[in-house]
Formats: sequence, C-alpha cells, structure tokens
Amino acid sequence: MLQIQAFYPLLHQPARVVITTHQKPDGDALGSSLGLYHFLVQLGHTVTVVSPTNWPDFLSWLPGMDQVINYENQRERSQQLIAGADYIFCLDFNILHRTKNVEPLLVQTPAKKILIDHHQEPQVAAFDWGISDTGKSSTCEMVYDFIVDSGHDHLIHADMATCLYAGVMTDTGSFRFPATTASVHRMVARLKDTGIHHARIHDEIFDNFLENRLRFIGYVLLNRMDVIYEYNTAIMYITKADLQRFQIRTGDTEGLVNYLLSIQGIRFAALAIDRDEERKWSFRSKGDFDVNAFARAHFEGGGHKNAAGGRSSDSLEMTVKKFREILPSYLNQLQ
Ligand code: 5GP
Ligand code: MN
Repeated sequence: MLQIQAFYPLLHQPARVVITTHQKPDGDALGSSLGLYHFLVQLGHTVTVVSPTNWPDFLSWLPGMDQVINYENQRERSQQLIAGADYIFCLDFNILHRTKNVEPLLVQTPAKKILIDHHQEPQVAAFDWGISDTGKSSTCEMVYDFIVDSGHDHLIHADMATCLYAGVMTDTGSFRFPATTASVHRMVARLKDTGIHHARIHDEIFDNFLENRLRFIGYVLLNRMDVIYEYNTAIMYITKADLQRFQIRTGDTEGLVNYLLSIQGIRFAALAIDRDEERKWSFRSKGDFDVNAFARAHFEGGGHKNAAGGRSSDSLEMTVKKFREILPSYLNQLQ
C-alpha cells in the first residue's frame, strides 16, 4: 500500500470512482463516504457511493444520501459500478470481509483501491494507496485531512461539512472520547464556518426515534442486563423475540451498549444481539482493557481498543455462556 500522498496528483484526472464502506454503516461510515463524495464530484469525477447493506433511518437525511446505492437492493448496478471503476475508496473499514457480500466484487475488480480508515490491523495488501491511523477520532477526520492536505480546503461547503460533522460527532461520542484532540475541535470550527447547523444535526441523529425504541431500552435495561461486579463488567443480551416485540429496526440498538459503561466502576461492556444470520457482539471499554484484542481472540471481530465488535454462529444462549466462561481469564486486566 502506497502512502495516500502519492494519490494526490491523480485527483486532477477525472475518473470513475466508487466509494464504499462497511456493512450496516454508521454515522462515520456514511458521513465520511458522503463527505468524500461531495469533494470528488467538485473535481469532476463520476462518483457513486455503494453501501453493502441498508443503514439506520436516522442517517437518511444526510445531504447526498438519496444518491447512495444499497447493494442489497441494486446488485447488478453495484456490480457494474465496482467492476467498471477506476478507483474504489474504502472508508471506515480495513479488511474486505467487513463489506459482507460486496467482498468478492472488491476482490475481482481491476479497479485500484484507496484505504482511509482508523481501525487496527489493516489488511494492507488489499489496497494500492491508503492511510491507516488508529490515532484518528474518525474516518471523517481523515477525509477532512485528505481534502485539506491535498490543497482543497477552499472546496469545503456546507453539505460536505454537515456529513463530516455528523460522522465525527457520532464516532467521538459527541466529542468526549479520548481521541477527540485539539485538531478535531479545529476541524469542527472550520466546518462550522461553512454555516452548518450543528444543533439540527444532533437532533436528526439522536432525537428522532419512535416511542417504541425508548420502551425497548427500558425493557432491556430492566430484564436483559447483568452486572458482574467481580470483573467490573456489564453484559446485555437481546433476543429475537425482543426485537420483534418492539419492532426494532436497523439503528435502534445503536448506543445501547454505552449505557452499561455509565454504571460506576464498570470498565467492560458487552452487548449481544440475536440477528438473523448471526449473534452480533458490541464491546466497549474504559481505560486500558483492549476490546479489539478480546473480540479478535474470541469472537471473530475487531475494531478499536475501546470499541469493537464481533460475531458468533452459536445460539444466543451459548454465545453468552461462552462470554461468561472466558471472563475469569481476564480477571487481572479487569480489576
Ligand atoms: P459497533 O459495536 O458499534 O458495531 O462496532 C464498534 C467498532 O468495532 C466499530 O469501529 C466497528 O467498525 C468495529 N466492528 C464491529 N464489528 C466488527 C467485526 O465483526 N469485525 C471487525 N473487524 N470490526 C468490527
Ligand atoms: Mn469510524
């Protein structure tokens, strides 16, 4: 993988570009993809954002979202775009299988690939150019750096800034996680200068749910949470029946795992959800406990030190049982 700076000269030759991201994209994945989209379009490129799956409703208002293709609904078109692209930007993931069913298309295409990502252990051989920096708050911050460093600060406009702001806000837990550096705040100041309405962005993302989601949260906090004080760990598990009962949709469970970390002394939080194809884990930690390592070692996952995900093909009951059995071997790290 060549350094991203080596790609800058190519920005000036109009090309066919696809931007893609991880399955079930979050605010940073779609915010960075659309931020880059608004930038590349201005340089004369033909650009399409292809999402491997659907996305949460609370992101559907992002400027440019109406142009995003969901691979699951438009397979043939996605296939053609990916096979016929000159360049494919891969944002907010660093290992091709995170794009689920899009992975084989990315493997087969002759298009050159550019990585912009902040997760650990990138699959560097899969990319032609790129930047991987785990110190960055968000992929949105990295797209912003890409635009500014390549000499295009003047092209930043309000729609682009809205997308980038949405992603950096969600990935930093509204600017509170440790990766929220002074540079992040300087970037936000620059974005704010374009005239974006940050309060409106916050409302669209955090205060736009249906009543059922709040009742669902109340239900799972009361009935599906275990606090294991010995290991400073809290766990929550959600059954298929729970999801059906409250008509839970993509995005409704976002942020749920963070409630566990609000309990005094809790350093490790784990949420298991019984999805159709698999049991999906979300892990969060405070301080030194490395959930990226934990997810890699036990649940085919990864992510960041303090926020990671994983999966299991076992039943919900078995996967939660496995988790409880593993915990004692981390006693020293969790105390
Ligand atoms: P979340 O719990 O919000 O789904 O994910 C937390 C973090 O872990 C995100 O940065 C996400 O990209 C990463 N992540 C989630 N699931 C997986 C997974 O199955 N594999 C890997 N490598 N990373 C994951
Ligand atoms: Mn991210």
